[in-house]
This record gives sequence, C-alpha cells and structure tokens, in this order.
Amino acid sequence: MGCDGGTIPKRHELVKGPKKVEKVDKNAELVAQWNYCTLSQEILRRPIVACELGRLYNKDAIIEFLLDKSSEKALGKAASHIKSIKNVTELRLSDNPAWEGDKGNTKGDKHDDLQRARFICPVVGLEMNGRHRFCFLRCCGCVFSERALKEIKAEVCHTRCMKKYFN
Ligand SMILES: [Zn+2]
Repeated sequence: MGCDGGTIPKRHELVKGPKKVEKVDKNAELVAQWNYCTLSQEILRRPIVACELGRLYNKDAIIEFLLDKSSEKALGKAASHIKSIKNVTELRLSDNPAWEGDKGNTKGDKHDDLQRARFICPVVGLEMNGRHRFCFLRCCGCVFSERALKEIKAEVCHTRCMKKYFN
C-alpha cells in the first residue's frame, strides 16, 4: 500500500455550524479549526488523530464514537466515514516553543492563547495556525507544512522518526 502524505485541507466545513460564528474574526476562526476536535468540539489534546479527509480529532473522542455508534448525535456525522480506528492516523505533532497556552493561562484570557499556534512545522517552523497547508504522513503520522514537503524532496520522513515515505 502506498504511504503517501495525506493532506490536511483548510477546514471550512468545521465552521458551518451555528450562524452566529459567521462574523468571528477570521484569524481566530482559522486558529480554532486547528485547536478543536471535529467530533467532540473539545480542545485538541494528545493523542490527536487525523482522518483521510484531514480533519483533526481527539483519539478518545474517536474511540468513544466507535464504541457507541447507537448514539445518534448530530456530531457523529462529522465522523461517519470512520469505521475503525485504522481509518485514522495518530499524529506526531511538533510543539511550538512559543505557545504557552497551558502554562501562562491563569487569567482565563482564552483569546490570548489563540494568537499562537500550539504546533509548528518541525522543518521550516511555520505555525500550524490555519494559514498554511499542513500534511501528515500516513505511515508514521508526522506532520509538517506543505512548504517543507515541496522544498525538501527526501525519501525519508523529514523529522526524527526517519521512516521511509514508501515501503
Ligand atoms: Zn515520520
């Protein structure tokens, strides 16, 4: 089976929901798409997985969803294409050293958290803030920017896991 990179598209579908979010500041909106689980709408926390459509989820939300398909939650539609845990890839994300969401957030000023992305591309350092396309490798789950993928045409994973793209 080919082990090509899956693409994480800009996820407009996530913000369709309630009409009230339409006028949200564009940047905050994009950042939010990268910070919340598509299924549970909770803040993303490791382990984070992605599906073939490039949507991001908390792994525990996916497991819960797979265990209890009887619940007809409207949210379940976001993951109706996921039939098994094998349909998702656990991501190896690189922390953004400039992000202090967990540490510095004692004032409850959530808006500040969203000014910086939690994760970055480990190759070129782009922040994963919704303004750049990011990709993940299905074989190892490493995540980096599309720019890195284009600039460095190596046949091994760009990050330290060094798995081959194709095997
Ligand atoms: Zn890798």
